[in-house]
Amino acid sequence: MAQDSEDQIFQGVINEIPFISVDYFLDVQSSLALFLSHCHADHMKGLDSHDLYQTLQTKPGFFIYCSEKTKQILTDWPTYSKLGRYLKALELNHTVKIDLPDDSCNGNANKTTFCVTTIPSGHCPGSVMFLYEGSFGTILYTGDFRIAKGDCRKFQAFMSNPSRPEYGLKTIDHVYLDCTFCTDSAKTFPSRQISVDVTIALVSNWISKSPEHKVLFSLAGRGFGAEFLFVEVHRRLNIQVHISEFKHKIYKNLTDLRNAISRQHTTSVHACGEGTVSTKKHSPCFKDSSKLLTIRLTTQWHLMEGKNVDHRVVVDEGGIQRVLYSMHSSLEEIQDFVKILQPYKVTPIAKPNKVSKEKIQQLLNCEVVLPVNRFLSRENYEDYS
Ligand SMILES: [Zn+2]
Ligand SMILES: [Zn+2]
Ligand SMILES: [Zn+2]
Repeated sequence: MAQDSEDQIFQGVINEIPFISVDYFLDVQSSLALFLSHCHADHMKGLDSHDLYQTLQTKPGFFIYCSEKTKQILTDWPTYSKLGRYLKALELNHTVKIDLPDDSCNGNANKTTFCVTTIPSGHCPGSVMFLYEGSFGTILYTGDFRIAKGDCRKFQAFMSNPSRPEYGLKTIDHVYLDCTFCTDSAKTFPSRQISVDVTIALVSNWISKSPEHKVLFSLAGRGFGAEFLFVEVHRRLNIQVHISEFKHKIYKNLTDLRNAISRQHTTSVHACGEGTVSTKKHSPCFKDSSKLLTIRLTTQWHLMEGKNVDHRVVVDEGGIQRVLYSMHSSLEEIQDFVKILQPYKVTPIAKPNKVSKEKIQQLLNCEVVLPVNRFLSRENYEDYS
């Protein structure tokens, strides 16, 4: 049966709150509220669908909740800009009561009101975790996250009484957890600060050779995640990073990024390629390929079997500098997070294919429940209503 599959994929279902959908926008006609943790494709399934748009238009009070920054990104992203009026931005670290649409005529009379707090998740611009509190208990959805060891103690949202930290942390019933690197091969990663320091040193060294020496950050696809680096390049080297027209359209309205980026191809540092990087394609940027240094930020590559790189932060792979830079928590960071919050159970919303539920249970020392199949959950939902 589907729910027994080891590789059950998270499809937006929060078992305790069956009338919402998180990071999944297909088949949401019966949902009463939608949540988007951040703008990465694996969390946006169906967000561009006609069905979703139609449902939003016809159901008053039906919204997609996200962070202010995520709303800004989607508003400037042509594919999603029409969703603008249906996006409700939630202020970071604030608890908000969610008003559900009046859908009682559809058999949802027993719907519960609940509160949500958005907490920064350290993954990419605008990324947040959602803490849901209601008669169903206290449920945390981490989205994708990179939280340093011990840092979750600092978030007020987790404190029983923020003005009396000695009272300890809230009891969390269930964490829907980013287990992307819940595996022995990803025990530790350098902190993002170390990865950035190493990268800045590479850049600074290279471009000091001559004004013709250029650097290209080779990024995967259109994804977001390296923006922290652009801000640091600008802050420390006073150089703006050349980016694509698509990204410029989005970044220009994000206050912390606006000054770090440029559409001038004469700058020394570039992140203008999307998809496969061909230096020829960007010839106005790189006239002399012998004076071009390519830096690729990767995590999976460093973990691949047989690489034997011992998690060195920089590895020279045939002229390409591979910098180990993770947007997700390492195994030790995940373990620390779970140890501090002590939830009753955990559901992995992403995990390595080869890692079983039992293995995660053992690594986290906590009960693990795999995500529920969306269609199976609908039967539960009808029982619930
Ligand atoms: Zn992500
Ligand atoms: Zn993801
Ligand atoms: Zn360029």
